[in-house]
Amino acid sequence: MGNSEKILKVLDKGFVEIVDYMGGDRSAVRAARVSHGKDISTDEKDKRLIEHLMKNGHTSPFEHITFTFYVKAPIFVVRQWFRHRIGMSPNEISRRYTSKNVDEFYIPTNIRFQDTDDKQKNIVVGDEKLKKEVIEIIEEAYEKSYEAYEKLINIGVTKELARIILPVGEYTEFYLTTNARALMHFLDLRASSHAQWEIQQYAIALAYFFQKLCPWTYEAYIKYAYQGDVLDKL
Ligand SMILES: Cc1cc2nc3c(=O)[nH]c(=O)nc-3n(C[C@H](O)[C@H](O)[C@H](O)COP(=O)(O)OP(=O)(O)OC[C@H]3O[C@@H](n4cnc5c(N)ncnc54)[C@H](O)[C@@H]3O)c2cc1C
Repeated sequence: MGNSEKILKVLDKGFVEIVDYMGGDRSAVRAARVSHGKDISTDEKDKRLIEHLMKNGHTSPFEHITFTFYVKAPIFVVRQWFRHRIGMSPNEISRRYTSKNVDEFYIPTNIRFQDTDDKQKNIVVGDEKLKKEVIEIIEEAYEKSYEAYEKLINIGVTKELARIILPVGEYTEFYLTTNARALMHFLDLRASSHAQWEIQQYAIALAYFFQKLCPWTYEAYIKYAYQGDVLDKL
């Protein structure tokens, strides 16, 4: 994978970068075959084994494929992301010690109104005048928060205390190491129309790297195990 292919832009200022990975389709095959004292076989048999594992929910061999991502995302997205406790190891920048990105806030282009019949459904606003008005309100609130943050810092208040007035639309950054099994669980829940649109965009970016690095596993996952409704339509 070339350097330019390692980063995907997400939302207006965010990204997902693949920093490191270990293993691929064959790591899962090798782990699965240990049960029978065998190792790698032909492409065709290995691919079929992956399909068999996926169809029957034997997903532990996929824990032998690991990825490290570097992610920049708004805090409200990260808050949803970090609810995934198993096989997801994050390390995030600390607002106690750094003001990095403290003035970077998510400005949505996709403005939605609440569907009155279904709480999980949104209606995308097409009216440009209305969109502009919404964005202006958001920008104004961000500016006020950031101004207050700067005032507090200039008075001498610590970063850990000054940050309490920053909004959840502020960008943060973190490393995340995960494995293919945990990643698939994340994609089931977040590459789904039930999840908030913004986290869906990050899930789609993770799926892109998963597909690039583990094409057989990804194909079998989408075909036999994926529980969402976004990736199969891309
Ligand atoms: C559309 C959507 C809406 C949501 N809304 C809300 C909300 O309003 N409020 C809210 O608080 N959360 C909400 N969540 C978060 C959700 O409840 C989960 O915490 C989150 O999706 C992580 O899923 P998980 O627990 O399966 O993943 P992980 O934490 O990664 O766990 C993976 C799996 O391990 C097992 N496991 C993990 N921990 C335990 C445990 N302690 N005991 C038993 N088994 C365990 C389970 O099988 C679990 O599926 C929402 C999630 C989605 C996708």
